Amino acid sequence: MSDDLGNNDRETVCGVCENLLEKVKESERVDKKGIELLKRPKKSLNVSLPVKMDDGAVEIFPSFRMQYNDARGPTKGGIRFHPKVNREEVQELSFLMALKCAVADIPYGGAKGGVKVDPRELSEQEKERLSRAYARAYSEFIGPEKDVPAPDMNTNAKIMGWMRDEYEQVEGEHAPGVITGKPVEFGGSKARSYATGLGGSHIVDQFVDDRGWKKEETTIAIQGFGNVGSNLARFLDKKGYKVVAISDSSGGWQDKNGIDVQKLFEEYESPGDYKKLGEGEKISNHDILTMDVDILMPAAIEDQITEENMEQIQASAIIEMANGPTSAEADEFLKEQGIPIVPDILANAGGVTTSYFEWLQNLSNEYWSEEKVREKLEDYMVSAYKEVKEVQEEEEVSMREASYILAIERIMEAEKARGNL
Ligand code: NAD
Repeated sequence: MSDDLGNNDRETVCGVCENLLEKVKESERVDKKGIELLKRPKKSLNVSLPVKMDDGAVEIFPSFRMQYNDARGPTKGGIRFHPKVNREEVQELSFLMALKCAVADIPYGGAKGGVKVDPRELSEQEKERLSRAYARAYSEFIGPEKDVPAPDMNTNAKIMGWMRDEYEQVEGEHAPGVITGKPVEFGGSKARSYATGLGGSHIVDQFVDDRGWKKEETTIAIQGFGNVGSNLARFLDKKGYKVVAISDSSGGWQDKNGIDVQKLFEEYESPGDYKKLGEGEKISNHDILTMDVDILMPAAIEDQITEENMEQIQASAIIEMANGPTSAEADEFLKEQGIPIVPDILANAGGVTTSYFEWLQNLSNEYWSEEKVREKLEDYMVSAYKEVKEVQEEEEVSMREASYILAIERIMEAEKARGNL
């Protein structure tokens, strides 16, 4: 049972983490005692944030920050502003961040934070006061060598800039590495803005190469045309793949001959703008998920492939760009059907990997060219894919299970070296 803020009676882990840890228990590579260690988050802080609104009234916003595991390095994870933010969700997401950083082999643990707020109801000034209140309240909890936040749902580079500034004012020093996803002119990294989509395109390259498919004949449907989906579509198109369908919250669009993605990318401003293309036809959001394509890439929101539509999935493979787009039931069902799924913690790790590059640049005060960031991103994504593949083949498990096994093995090696196991 959990209350409105997600505080539950369970003293240990969230359901998602528990299921996941159960799944990998059978593997020889995973230390059974380590599983117990990973069932509990390391540290968390909840703060009620009083914020003065434009009309003079003070509103109190519940907020959270959880540092799940820091065996491999400072914890890393976004801060989201959303009315549904709660402690349990933050816990799940911080656990998954620990796994994602370990799969990408970047020296970070996992964290997550959030504020229970509907940002659409705040003015720009109220949003700034809330962001600064968050950075002030958690200033002792976060830090470049402790816990490094980043943008997440409804937070962006501007908000990261305010938070960096507030943190520096409280600490009385410059500390650009306290937060990533900042504006490029204020310590951000070149290429960060499109890194998740670009990273996903490198995963597609590896996957298609493994199967001996030809790029120009590989058909791809992408759900979501926001930061991740639009950049992903742009890079896949540039590489020669056939993007045959895209969608956003208003519905979808398909063109069997291939969508003019570059034109759409340049002209797209808001949901539904794909109609400007002229060629092709409108489809529903349900249709895009069940299309007969080589690769389906959900890049919008969570819980899109579920018990409701899993039996209608016709794609030959799924590469997850959104976080948690496939439910546990659908995952199991598709595995039985022989439809491979490249999991989110591998496919969308390009964002956090480039955040790591941003942090490195901040700590060394040496800023990299866009080309260097892109080259390094490709190296990390290709290595992560190959390492997961190796575990998959050795253990004869799905790519998702292989990612978990690899991540947990790496975290446990660090725990052992610390003497905790
Ligand atoms: P975004 O808000 O920029 O874009 C979301 C897109 O999804 C929009 O095009 C929106 O219209 C569309 N959408 C919303 N509801 C939809 C629905 N029901 N059907 C179809 N489309 C719908 O978000 P984003 O940054 O692109 O993130 C997308 C996903 O990727 C999220 O799950 C996010 O957690 C994950 N992710 C993002 C990053 C990143 O760097 N931005 C990194 C890792 C993971």
